[in-house]
Amino acid sequence: MQTQMLINGRLVHGEGAVWTVLDPATGQALAQIKEATEAQVDIAVRAADQAFDGWSQTPPKERAAALLAIADSIEAHGEALAKLESDNCGKPYSAALNDEIPAIADVFRYFAGAARCMGGSAAGEYLPGHTSMVRRDPLGVVASIAPWNYPLMMLAWKIAPALAAGNTVVIKPSELTPLTALHLGGLLQGVLPPGVLNILFGRGQTVGNPLVTHPKVRMVSLTGSIATGAHIIGATADSVKRTHMELGGKAPVLVFDDADVEAAIEGIRTFGFYNAGQDCTAACRLYVQDGIYEQFVERLGEAVASIKPGLQNAPDTELGPLISAQHRDKVAGLVQRAVDQPHIRLVTGGKAIPGEGFFFEPTVLADALQDDEIVRTEVFGPVVSVTRFSDEAQALQWANDSEYGLASSLWTRDSNRAHRLAARLQYGCTWVNTHFMLVSEMPHGGQKRSGYGKDMSMYGLEDYTCVRHVMFKH
Ligand code: NAD
Repeated sequence: MQTQMLINGRLVHGEGAVWTVLDPATGQALAQIKEATEAQVDIAVRAADQAFDGWSQTPPKERAAALLAIADSIEAHGEALAKLESDNCGKPYSAALNDEIPAIADVFRYFAGAARCMGGSAAGEYLPGHTSMVRRDPLGVVASIAPWNYPLMMLAWKIAPALAAGNTVVIKPSELTPLTALHLGGLLQGVLPPGVLNILFGRGQTVGNPLVTHPKVRMVSLTGSIATGAHIIGATADSVKRTHMELGGKAPVLVFDDADVEAAIEGIRTFGFYNAGQDCTAACRLYVQDGIYEQFVERLGEAVASIKPGLQNAPDTELGPLISAQHRDKVAGLVQRAVDQPHIRLVTGGKAIPGEGFFFEPTVLADALQDDEIVRTEVFGPVVSVTRFSDEAQALQWANDSEYGLASSLWTRDSNRAHRLAARLQYGCTWVNTHFMLVSEMPHGGQKRSGYGKDMSMYGLEDYTCVRHVMFKH
């Protein structure tokens, strides 16, 4: 197994403390890896800084060619990468191979094209005898910090636009799920000039913190929790670094009496429980209208009870484990406190599944109220709450009454209602009659405490540049 870090074009072992990487489906160790020391973080950032001049001056078509080569390499090694990802995250192998690997390669291909299409907005004579132009230029060294739920996908969302725009990157995957990022580092040695991409290993405190606060880092991009985002914003405030924050979510799902109920149930069964619900856009906070409420809860309970938990390679596995024992215990605590409320009805699930792995039953909690913890707090597990509403205004008010602002969906056959509500939902994304669908051409990102900055799309590329004015006197 390739567990060395990529620093300045070379594969090197960490020289810090040893960390054990687990398979969450069995609780068994997959690897023991030494994390980077602060001195190694410094070497990586300085290498990225030195590489910046050359990479930022590399013509877009050559940067694009490098990104296309990365996409080809990911596809060519798709089975090995999917195996590592499913072993390390516990997710079904078929989902990693068939859903994630093609989408990851596509992100690199999209930004390869985008690198060649980015332009300034205007050039002209705004003062007599002077010509102005607008440039979009890269920023320098970008420090990227990734989470554990989709490790390689989040790496792609971060490094593809940053490199396409001409920045150099030092990325730290989550200490819980580093295996695909480190493996990719081995594949990419020689694909990019030394120092353009550096991949470190280690925990947030020991490696993430010195990385994001390094004086040569010009921008920090995080996908992670609100707590980590707030910490990084504070830690980088003195040096006024640009930050790009993709934080948590608690997606409201509004199901109206006139919805296609079977489609909504199938959608929630899929999009509330994909990746064991460890997804910042998961369809988890359901508001269901009076007229269909009882029928909906009953049908949803049956549908969710049929979700099959299992090991990564079992062909019928739909639900993997949670990422760690600690996270499983957090989910179990949230569910238990909800069940302890007299008004909440446990429709199905509700408990950790006994055994070595960190599995939790797919769970539906009905009759939840707007102020309940289970409605307000991100669970990040296979758990959905259902709340009854009577009219559209109430559903909209409850949907927006959240500190999160990442994703939302509404299910109705009334297109006037769909337009009315889509315009007023305070979420970075609203899906109508579906949920969770992402494409490389469209922006993904939040508002409110879910963060700011966009992944994917031309907006994502622009986030990794600064706008500059250049003026010529004739
Ligand atoms: P986390 O915040 O615990 O960790 C994220 C990353 O930050 C890890 O690599 C961690 O090592 C690092 N980190 C922690 N402390 C740090 C510090 N002081 N300095 C620098 N780095 C530090 O989050 P997680 O548990 O890995 O991921 C789950 C969270 O991520 C959830 O809240 C989820 O909603 C969010 N998420 C958001 C999106 C999105 O697109 N908005 C996508 C996926 C996950």
